[in-house]
Amino acid sequence: MRALVKARPEKGIWLEERPVPEIGPRDVLIKVRKTGICGTDVHIYNWDEWAQKTVPVPLVTGHEFAGEIVALGEEVDDLTVGQRVSGEGHVVTMNSRASRAGKFHLDPHTRGIGVNLPGAFAEFVRIPAFNAVPLPDSVDDEMGAILDPLGNAVHTALAFDITGEDVLVTGAGPIGIMGAAVARHVGARHVVVTDVNPKRLELAGQVADVTPVNVASEDLQAVMDRLGMKEGFDVGLEMSGAPAALDQMIEHMVMGGRIALLGIPARPFPFDLGKVVFRMITLKGIYGREMFETWHKMLAMLETGLDVRRVITRRMKAEDYAEAFALAAKGEEGKIVLEW
Ligand code: NAD
Ligand code: ZN
Repeated sequence: MRALVKARPEKGIWLEERPVPEIGPRDVLIKVRKTGICGTDVHIYNWDEWAQKTVPVPLVTGHEFAGEIVALGEEVDDLTVGQRVSGEGHVVTMNSRASRAGKFHLDPHTRGIGVNLPGAFAEFVRIPAFNAVPLPDSVDDEMGAILDPLGNAVHTALAFDITGEDVLVTGAGPIGIMGAAVARHVGARHVVVTDVNPKRLELAGQVADVTPVNVASEDLQAVMDRLGMKEGFDVGLEMSGAPAALDQMIEHMVMGGRIALLGIPARPFPFDLGKVVFRMITLKGIYGREMFETWHKMLAMLETGLDVRRVITRRMKAEDYAEAFALAAKGEEGKIVLEW
């Protein structure tokens, strides 16, 4: 089969012929139809410090996918060949205290498809049947291919009660934009999205009914005054990983504000913990998706009017991966979906 392989410990990714994965008794084999390119894949492409210490080489990459089940392990009795699925890319063990309590997303031994385990940028991918998520007919393959990042957005946006609340989303990357759309969908009052990239802010305005603010040129407080927000944001969704964005968020929260942090900073950085203490702000880290509550809620919202399709700004063939990765690295697109 064709697969995008991190074949060598250096910058790049290569389209190679690889054997179709063999499945174990509790696995399924999926014919991949569409995949999404993630920021993580760009880190692996660039072979940065994180990738060098995380990713075994050679490895088929990619973890955002949708496709069709073509083979079932002999112990799998709750899925069928021909079923359309996406899948949770975090593969958990069943022996940790968290897993045995049903909190699979807190399993400390989690491994990632396309990061530590063979991935989905390929004609076929093997995943544990446990990780497969059947797709309703109303969710097509390209939407199925971006459920992983939409799940990050949903997990973050639903970390705190946001109905009727004023929400600040810092970072209008694909996940920030989808998080803002979810906040709007579940009934937040004002949803303000910040970025420093005008293209990304323009896209945010096209995907959801939000107030985009370019913090490189506009004053956030002036926007809040215009919206009639007197005391600050009730909930913050940090989706950039930028130290300046977290500083600005903490500065503009209400007393007792709640912040969900998804953005991953490139390196440790100092911030004003005193403000967090005196303002009694709650900080909550968010990683991945809740298994499988996030998946359930995300599919339910997609079936009841949540529309984030416009966050997909490019649809390309897998063989055009070089151009697709160059575009993804530039940071001006929304989601880029590859067809296999
Ligand atoms: P992205 O890099 O495409 O978007 C980040 C955006 O933040 C960019 O548009 C950038 O211009 C903007 N930004 C930079 N400085 C800013 C500032 N001062 N104020 C506001 N915005 C600023 O990323 P993405 O793919 O949308 O992912 C969002 C973040 O979530 C990334 O940091 C990513 O690494 C992280 N992530 C975390 C998880 C998790 O499980 N915790 C999963 C996936 C992605
Ligand atoms: Zn991803």
